Amino acid sequence: MKSKSASSWSAAKSEELYGFKRWGAGHFGVDSDGFVNVQPLADGRSIRIMDVVDEALGMGLKAPLVIRFQDLLRHRVIQLNQVFHQAIKDEGYKGSYRGVFPIKVNQLREVVDEIVTAGKDYTYGLEAGSKPELMIALAMHEGANRLIICNGYKDHDYIRLALLGRKIGKKIILVVEQLAEVDDIIKVSAETGVKPMIGFRAKLLTRGEGKWAMSTGDNAKFGLNTAEILFACEKLRAAKLGSCLRLVHFHIGSQVPNIITIKNAVIEATRFYCQLAKMGFPMGYLDVGGGLGIDYDGSRTNFESSMNYTMAEYARDVVANIRDICKASHVAVPDIVSESGRAVVAPHSMLVVEVFERINKRETLGVQHQPKVKHQVVIDLEQMHKNKAKLGRLERFHDAMQKKEESFSLFNLGYLDLENRAAAESIFWQICEQLAKECRDAGYVPEELHDLNRLLADQYVCNFSVFQSLLDHWALKQLFPITPLHRLKERPTVNAILADITCDSDGKVSSFVDLQDTKDYLAVHPLNAKPYYLGIYLTGAYQDIMGDLHNLFGRVNEVHVFLEPDEPDGFYIEEALSGSRISDVIEGVQYQWEELCRRMKAQIDAATRKDLVKPREGVRLVEFYESQMLSKTYLNIEPKTARKSRK
Ligand SMILES: *Cc1c(COP(=O)(O)O)cnc(C)c1O
Repeated sequence: MKSKSASSWSAAKSEELYGFKRWGAGHFGVDSDGFVNVQPLADGRSIRIMDVVDEALGMGLKAPLVIRFQDLLRHRVIQLNQVFHQAIKDEGYKGSYRGVFPIKVNQLREVVDEIVTAGKDYTYGLEAGSKPELMIALAMHEGANRLIICNGYKDHDYIRLALLGRKIGKKIILVVEQLAEVDDIIKVSAETGVKPMIGFRAKLLTRGEGKWAMSTGDNAKFGLNTAEILFACEKLRAAKLGSCLRLVHFHIGSQVPNIITIKNAVIEATRFYCQLAKMGFPMGYLDVGGGLGIDYDGSRTNFESSMNYTMAEYARDVVANIRDICKASHVAVPDIVSESGRAVVAPHSMLVVEVFERINKRETLGVQHQPKVKHQVVIDLEQMHKNKAKLGRLERFHDAMQKKEESFSLFNLGYLDLENRAAAESIFWQICEQLAKECRDAGYVPEELHDLNRLLADQYVCNFSVFQSLLDHWALKQLFPITPLHRLKERPTVNAILADITCDSDGKVSSFVDLQDTKDYLAVHPLNAKPYYLGIYLTGAYQDIMGDLHNLFGRVNEVHVFLEPDEPDGFYIEEALSGSRISDVIEGVQYQWEELCRRMKAQIDAATRKDLVKPREGVRLVEFYESQMLSKTYLNIEPKTARKSRK
């Protein structure tokens, strides 16, 4: 693309460039003033995200900041239920939909609370994968007709808890993941005199696709193979609990990008269901697990960060395939349970980070050092830079790389002084930039030269920790859409990767969503004197709880936002949660912050006695240390008068 003047840019072009319409599912866009806005209900009522950031700032909550749009969360719950209801109606399906929210995907009370409330009219239930989650599910769950599905490894107490639920009238189903659990359930049931509702998790041979493909197949961690299912049936019959078998379950892994995988798994599981029904078990429920995806890059493909189907298509395929197989087998159709977690919660929350520093190779290196005595390697590089017309681009790139290597070897052997090394580096980058510029105007660009833009990308240092707030990006290379939150009327002229503030070279984001595969850098604006904010979207699934305390960066600030047409900016912050203080994270690693303060005071007192500090100053130092204990773990970025990049 030929470069155009800055004035030819517009908010609409930014909306297109960052793909808001493709991954935003009707919720995210850019307004004509160049600000990102969110429509929590996709109904035209919008909130400018910078207004939320400003209001949070007014409450003393700086970035990094998690924003939860509670209406958007409610919207997703309703949407999921409605697409299933529609599919059931359209396909003439005789059963009903009885979805459950898997608590593991986001356990926060406000999230689970909102989901339980939103699902009230839809008999939407909860799924637990561990004892602590079951404790939450039991207490938060309402209504005798909404299911609780119990997955995961179970000890006797887990089973006792589920039977407690049964006893007080809840529809709670224990899903057998391992053969031995059947014996445990039989035992605890006899001990308590409560009849359980039981499901079997089938180990499907249908292969998953995407990052979690190992969730099925012969070596999967969970589920019963065919022989084990038959054993389990015999055990239940022998214990006179045959009438308790109600459900077949499968889960082929999260973020399934390809609808074909889902169809095949549904078909295989329905066969299991029909066989068990024909053996005379009462059955009644088929649970299709999770896996419903999120189109993080908006490409609508079976790429791992995307999905080649819509939520509505998913529901139709699940419903139609179950119906067809049941019909062929002359078995009454079951009620359909699904455990979609990611698809329900991912869109409702986002992370806001502030960029506070630009690290730019070209600005530091562009000012060329003039060595007193130029080394031959510098002279050679200068020649290359000047005689650009002589050779092809790829050849010049190779030559320049070779000279750069040569200059490093010479330096290490002691033949090149600092001045000459600096000159060599700087000319090398100038050549790279020259080549990158030429490539921009060229048609075909060889693979190696594509790398130039990555090599030349700036680093934008952001006040956050990838390990706390974006763990799946680090652990699984999962992509999230990222954009500036403002200034979108300006052309973004800088290509950057994002670095976090941990002392870990992995603490960065250097892979971004793109329609074709992925991109190595993000288009951003040059920094100026005002704060610059980026939004990282669709972070509501899994990230909240997976985050860790690397470098002791703790939980970030958080606000929960509701639409409110009567408020000036169309919203209000219902709840504001202050992030971890230094004292909090320190206690988490077994220090007592009061004890640290005492020790520090003793040392400052000793220094005062030795006259290293004056008494009055000593008191101030103690106070300062103590006040820092109660401050946040992230950088306290002071407003700058003139924000400069390193020069
Ligand atoms: C994790 C998990 C889910 C949720 O999967 P999503 O892909 O997030 O919808 C559902 N069921 C089981 C058994 C799980 O382990």
